[in-house]
Amino acid sequence: MRTTTVVIGAGHAGLAMSHCLTSRSVDHVVLERGEVANSWKTERWDSLRLLTPNWQSRLPGYGYEGADPDGFRTMPETIAFIERYAERCAAPVEIHTAVTSVRSEDDGYRVSTSRGDWRCRTVVLATGACNIPSVPAVAAALPPGILTLTPMEYRNPDQVPEGGVLIVGASATGTQLAEELQHAGRPVTLAVGEHVRAPRTYRGRDIKWWMDAAGVMDDRYDDQDDIVRARHVPSMQLAGSPERRTLDLNRLTKLGVRLTGRLAGIRDGQALFSGSLRNQCDLADLKMDRLLDRIDQWATESGLDGDTDPPHRFEPTRVERTPPLALDLTNGEMRTVIWATGFRPDYSWLDVPVLDRKARIKHDGGVVEAPGMYVMGIPFLRRRKSTFIDGAGDDARDLSSHLASYLNGDASHA
Ligand SMILES: Cc1cc2nc3c(=O)[nH]c(=O)nc-3n(C[C@H](O)[C@H](O)[C@H](O)COP(=O)(O)OP(=O)(O)OC[C@H]3O[C@@H](n4cnc5c(N)ncnc54)[C@H](O)[C@@H]3O)c2cc1C
Repeated sequence: MRTTTVVIGAGHAGLAMSHCLTSRSVDHVVLERGEVANSWKTERWDSLRLLTPNWQSRLPGYGYEGADPDGFRTMPETIAFIERYAERCAAPVEIHTAVTSVRSEDDGYRVSTSRGDWRCRTVVLATGACNIPSVPAVAAALPPGILTLTPMEYRNPDQVPEGGVLIVGASATGTQLAEELQHAGRPVTLAVGEHVRAPRTYRGRDIKWWMDAAGVMDDRYDDQDDIVRARHVPSMQLAGSPERRTLDLNRLTKLGVRLTGRLAGIRDGQALFSGSLRNQCDLADLKMDRLLDRIDQWATESGLDGDTDPPHRFEPTRVERTPPLALDLTNGEMRTVIWATGFRPDYSWLDVPVLDRKARIKHDGGVVEAPGMYVMGIPFLRRRKSTFIDGAGDDARDLSSHLASYLNGDASHA
């Protein structure tokens, strides 16, 4: 089979690219190993809600149409939203078609799938940033009898035996699961490394509204002093809830969650934690204040000070004077460990030499180091918002423009 462009993945990023390619009359197909919105259907826990408000899911030619723009979508609502988008843009999706290899061939690519091969000139990799949970090597040293789960395996507290839970990682996933499990009567210990603290609301508006309006989400990849670092900043400690509650470490300790430093190792059945908890929390408080400073400055410059609550700062993160440095994993108190330590993409099927020695794809703002190949949906691809639903539109517009110029043989590639 032949087409001009193969888009791999029918999440919102692949669909946004499909919409832009259709607008430019570029013949294409979207290959999806499962169904449209597969990641949301198969890889998320039951209680998850988007942490971005409903209005902040603007896709090319599509957006929120309901009566609750400031609410937060549940998983069924998120799935329905993305499915409707696929229908609305009549995306040429081939479902249940897993890509098993992409190879260079002649002046394009051969894309092999579970349902035959495609030949094309250009390829867009929209297979997501969160294909594989990143589990640290120390996991191998866990004593027997401890249940381990990744966020992709976790669905709800019923899966987790009575008794203590160690959650490793305090970003959006780790803090959300800590809150849910502590509420469900499983005493949680949360190992806290580098994290990004943020209030849900500030000066009477949602923090995401401020970040969007002040241009924080539009920060560009080519304006960053250290883009590699920027691409590895953990997700913000945020949750979408009908009550718009802030989910920070102070809330969790109030609920009874015990905080420790970063998990540094596991030896002789003991989990060992770094003594850096106080420093990590101070740093997160400082960075949150810097974000609020930027917002305040923007509000003043934009003449908004009279229309919003006045600037204020939040209580620093409270930390025990001597947080535990070790935890016995063999005395029966700790029954479960959850690795909320992030995710990485899976390019194991990509037979084109575009990965660096850490298996990261080599690209310049989504233009991969292979002619006619593009990537979408990974952190800070072109902008801070690139990994969010709301960021796919601008990236798809830019990259489809580059792709069209490439097909036209324009050496400058827009
Ligand atoms: C827990 C969690 C919460 C998040 N919350 C939010 C939020 O609140 N707001 C927000 O805007 N974003 C959120 N995100 C980030 C982001 O929107 C998601 O990661 C999103 O799923 C990324 O969209 P995508 O289209 O890039 O990738 P995906 O939705 O993952 O789509 C990729 C598609 O590619 C398919 N695929 C993969 N490999 C192959 C292959 N070899 N062959 C064929 N098909 C393949 C997959 O089946 C999948 O359907 C969250 C992410 C996670 C993990």
